[in-house]
Amino acid sequence: MPEGDVVWRTADRLNRALAGRELVTSDLRWPSLATVDLTGRTVTEVLARGKHVLLRTDGGPPLTLHSHLRMEGSWHVHRTGQPWGTARSEDRVRAVLANTEWTAVGHQLGMLDLVATADEGSLVGHLGPDVLGPDWDPAVVLATLRSQPDRAVGDALLDQRVLAGVGTMFMAETLFVRGLSPWTPVSEVADIEAVVITAHRLLDANRHRAVQATTGDLRPGQATYVHARSGRPCRRCGTPVRVAMIGTAPQARTAFYCPSCQPGPTPTDDGRRQRPLGATARRTRSPYRT
Ligand SMILES: [Zn+2]
Repeated sequence: MPEGDVVWRTADRLNRALAGRELVTSDLRWPSLATVDLTGRTVTEVLARGKHVLLRTDGGPPLTLHSHLRMEGSWHVHRTGQPWGTARSEDRVRAVLANTEWTAVGHQLGMLDLVATADEGSLVGHLGPDVLGPDWDPAVVLATLRSQPDRAVGDALLDQRVLAGVGTMFMAETLFVRGLSPWTPVSEVADIEAVVITAHRLLDANRHRAVQATTGDLRPGQATYVHARSGRPCRRCGTPVRVAMIGTAPQARTAFYCPSCQPGPTPTDDGRRQRPLGATARRTRSPYRT
C-alpha cells in the first residue's frame, strides 16, 4: 500500500503537470461522477494530505477532486497526445485529466469524490498532522499518543487520526530503529518523542526517492531492516524476522519485527516457524504459514 512518501510524490508530480492550467479533457470513470465535467476549469493546486490526494480547481465555485490510492492505485503523467495505455490497462483507468501539454491518468484508484473545496474537511478533517505536510506538528502527535497510554505503539502509528502518512512499512522500520516491539504500550515507551521523530525522518528521506528505502541501500531486498522480510535473518543480529497482526479486525495490519532487537510483548505471534517471504508462489500472497 502506498504510504505518505509515495502519495506526496504523486501529488507533487500532478501539481507540476496540472497546476495553473486549464483542463481540456475530463473523463471520470466513476459511477457517482459519471456526469461530472471539469473541462474549462483551472487546476489551482494538487496536494497530499496523509494518503489522500486533493486536486483543487476553480473557474466556478472551487471544487476539489479527492482520490485515495488504497492498495493498488496510482496516477501517471504523460504528454498530451502521446499514447498512454494499452487495451489491458484501459480497464483500470478511473480518471483522465489533461491540459494541452500533460495528461494525468488515475489507475485503480481506491476512492474518487468531488466536493466543494471548502468542504475538504469532510474527507480529510479526521486526519492527524501530516508527516510530510506543512502542518506537521510533533507536539500534537505526542499529545494524542499520550492520551492513549494502553495502546500498542505500532497500532497507534498506523492510525491516520494520530498522524497521517505512516503505513505498515514505515511503522515497522521506525520501531526497528527504536528497538521497540510494535505491541509495546505507548505508556511503556521510554522515549515516545524519538519514535515520532524517527517516523518523520524516514518518510522525509523517502519523499524524493522512486525506490523506498530505510536502510540507505536501494538494492532489491536490501531496502528495509524488517519490513517484508519475515523468515529472513535480521540485518543487525541474524535472528529470523517475524510477522504478526497488529490492531483490531477489520483494521488489523501486518507488523514485521526482530524478536531480538525489538524485545517486548508479541501477543499475536504464534511463534511458529515462518518461511522466507516470497520463497514460493503461495508465500508471495501471504506472509503467514498456513
Ligand atoms: Zn535483530
